[in-house]
Amino acid sequence: MKIIVLKFGGTSVGTLKKIVKVAKIITSYVKKKYKVIVVSSAMSGVTNELLDKTKKISENFPNDEKDVILSTGEQISCALIAGKLNELGYKSRSWLGWQLPIITRGNYNASRIIKIQKTKIINYLKSGGVPIVTGFQGVNSDFRITTLERGGSDTSAILCAKFFDAEKCIIYTDVEGVFTTDPNLTKAAKKIDKISYEEMLEMASLGSKVMQPASIQEARLNRIEVDVRSTFSKKLGTTITKKKNIINKNTIRGISFTKNDAKITLIGVKDKPGVAASIFKPLYENSINVDMVVQNISANSRETDLTFTINLEDLIKTKKLLQNNKSIKFKNLIVNKNVSKVSIVGVGMITTPGVTYRMFKALAKKNINIEVISTSEIKISVLINKKNLKKSVEILHQEFKLNHNL
Ligand code: ASP
Ligand code: MG
Repeated sequence: MKIIVLKFGGTSVGTLKKIVKVAKIITSYVKKKYKVIVVSSAMSGVTNELLDKTKKISENFPNDEKDVILSTGEQISCALIAGKLNELGYKSRSWLGWQLPIITRGNYNASRIIKIQKTKIINYLKSGGVPIVTGFQGVNSDFRITTLERGGSDTSAILCAKFFDAEKCIIYTDVEGVFTTDPNLTKAAKKIDKISYEEMLEMASLGSKVMQPASIQEARLNRIEVDVRSTFSKKLGTTITKKKNIINKNTIRGISFTKNDAKITLIGVKDKPGVAASIFKPLYENSINVDMVVQNISANSRETDLTFTINLEDLIKTKKLLQNNKSIKFKNLIVNKNVSKVSIVGVGMITTPGVTYRMFKALAKKNINIEVISTSEIKISVLINKKNLKKSVEILHQEFKLNHNL
């Protein structure tokens, strides 16, 4: 069986008119003799509205009931798609997570899919039906409805491709693919034809919002080739694939950035073992994600300044935790909200020397000050003043020739 998984994101099914368009895309694959499994998100905005309701009715709405509510958005969009396909003369029906079932494990609101039962869908495909499967949801061993993390329909689609052994998984969304950087920031951005799992994972985690990072990790682990393309354009999108399949040898594949970081500096912290751990422990216990970290030895070598970045929305909580933390002493706490993290990403940097130097030199030429640096094997991130964001991205785009041969 030539199975293909088509996933439609929230904006692709955001209005009834758009759902008609989606139905036409689905039938075009049926006509090409594919056995099509559709996975859909909720209509855009719906999941947020549902979440708001839970917050309004109770300050501590139970997580298991939250999943019952949040999962309903997908039930609506899937039924609408199936209904339209029926009208167009195709056999189609919605399948909710528990009806397959899609079996999950882990906490409510953040479950993981561990298995998808194939039999019912395979039989349905054999009978000529087009199953429309709800993304983002499953059922656990207590037979309760669960949801994955937000944006989890991408993961649902990729794991459908895995369990049904699909030839392809296509993510239909509202952008034409993955770009070298955000086209809303600069006209220089170019669509990337092929990107490796590793690069895509870094790009997604660093702020390029095309796909949910966890879904790319699943694609990478299971070696599932993913196409990302627009529901509203005929243009070919971006293929996320193995490094081996990428001929273009650009050192850097793309530039990501964030706009919602805050930088905290603790001045005059005692320089002795265990201090950094006692600063970060309460943050960890409160699920505050610390990103970049630097520590400077002070002149007298008994004290140090510690700088780190967090998500802006965690700022108030973080400040409180630091100020109320009896086990650490510091002279001053400085906050800077006007920072952005800019990252260059590319597997090519593993084998190409001098990338760091080129990045720093390019920024220096434009008089852009680097405040914090962090690196991994395939990315280099710098923290800069937010006002220099566009300038930085553009100069790096130029330096690494990202508008050529992608
Ligand atoms: N509807 C869910 C959300 O808004 C899942 C998804 O869109 O992928 O997070
Ligand atoms: Mg989404």
